[in-house]
Amino acid sequence: MACTAIVGINWGDEGKGRMVDLLTEKYDIVVRFQGGGNAGHTVINEYGKFALHLLPSGVFRKGVMNILGNGVALDPENLLAEIRTLEEKGVKITPENLMISDRASLLLPWHRKLDELEELRLKDKKYGSTKQGIAPFYSDKYQKKTVMAGELFYPEKMKAHLRDLMEWKNLTLKGVYGAEPVTEAELDDWIEKCCKPLMPFIGDTREYLWDAQGNGKRILFEAQLGSLRDLDYGIYPYTTSSNTLAAYAPVGSGLPAAEITKVVGVVKAYSTCVGEGPFVCETFGEEAEKLRQAGAEYGAKTGRPRRVGPIDLVATRYGVQVQGATELALTKLDVLSDMDEIPVCVKYELNGEETDKFPFPSVLEDCKPVIRKVKGWKKDISGVRTWEDLPEEAKAYVNMVEQAIGRPFVYISVGPERESIIRRGV
Ligand code: GDP
Repeated sequence: MACTAIVGINWGDEGKGRMVDLLTEKYDIVVRFQGGGNAGHTVINEYGKFALHLLPSGVFRKGVMNILGNGVALDPENLLAEIRTLEEKGVKITPENLMISDRASLLLPWHRKLDELEELRLKDKKYGSTKQGIAPFYSDKYQKKTVMAGELFYPEKMKAHLRDLMEWKNLTLKGVYGAEPVTEAELDDWIEKCCKPLMPFIGDTREYLWDAQGNGKRILFEAQLGSLRDLDYGIYPYTTSSNTLAAYAPVGSGLPAAEITKVVGVVKAYSTCVGEGPFVCETFGEEAEKLRQAGAEYGAKTGRPRRVGPIDLVATRYGVQVQGATELALTKLDVLSDMDEIPVCVKYELNGEETDKFPFPSVLEDCKPVIRKVKGWKKDISGVRTWEDLPEEAKAYVNMVEQAIGRPFVYISVGPERESIIRRGV
């Protein structure tokens, strides 16, 4: 049985969505195992262009079961809106192709509100949250102060549970932030409008995955964001609030005994980063603007311009190691086609010394990038489909990155469309 994880190696937005969309042809089940609707995968296929926030990227493939595992931040309101948007474009979402873990905790009506209030309080010290309630949600989950999706099947018990949580949370809303408390009527309304329509999708995904594994089904685990946003191994505290690593997939998916034999790491041909936090290889000014425009680097969820820079071999090597990536996909190589010379961040300089070791987060802001320039290819490569047809300079760029980070690129993506891909030995 094939158990594969597909994960981001950098700061997120590597193009995981387009890779999952491509790879799902070989899998029976796609599972999202962490994170919430705070980032977006962009997928372009025969139905159109989509920004998926919570739904697994396998929803476009017939016969693929998509699962939202217990590790996700399940925001019923946003999930319903996302399902409706897809259905308007002709993509059917039914219990036949979507299942939600009964053990997934619910993002509650106050989580978004709290996220916003806290970012306001932090002012210029803010973390750059997307204000989707993800950090308050995960803190509450680990405090055991939220409810699980399966509780919807026990309405009286759930109501009582929610009422207790509301009383507790209103102490914070009123006392700490001086904000309006949440009312019981608001909660009832939220259950009716946002939660009940999801009930047909909710079930025991652990059992489903266990049986599927026994029957030899092929399972793909899909992560949100990337290595450097992982709560434990990323650029803390500018991380997300969940584990973005393949190692978390078994726990967060509902198949704790899963043996993941393949980890496909997605690397972008240059660097981008959304929001706050240290970003050693960052480029500014005209050079940055050119790259941002060439790569259309604006957030899928927020529309915010992304911070950009050259590929960072120090951070990428670290990202590959913490993910345990067994093979890699390089995306957006076409975006570099106009450049005479391509800068590459090969090392960091810290306290006057060069290092290729990714440092402890506290000193990242003291690091400077050591840049080497390599020759560009100055040719449109978006129509190239084989390794042999790539210009020599492009091959040299790919080989150089591969050697530095220690794992092979088996896919090279040269455009956002499903077919804009070069396969090497797969
Ligand atoms: P994800 O969250 O990792 O899936 O990444 P995003 O969806 O936020 O960002 C990837 C963006 O790049 C999307 O707009 C994709 O359509 C686009 N994209 C993905 N691969 C390529 C590629 O090889 N070339 C170009 N030009 N665009 C790509």
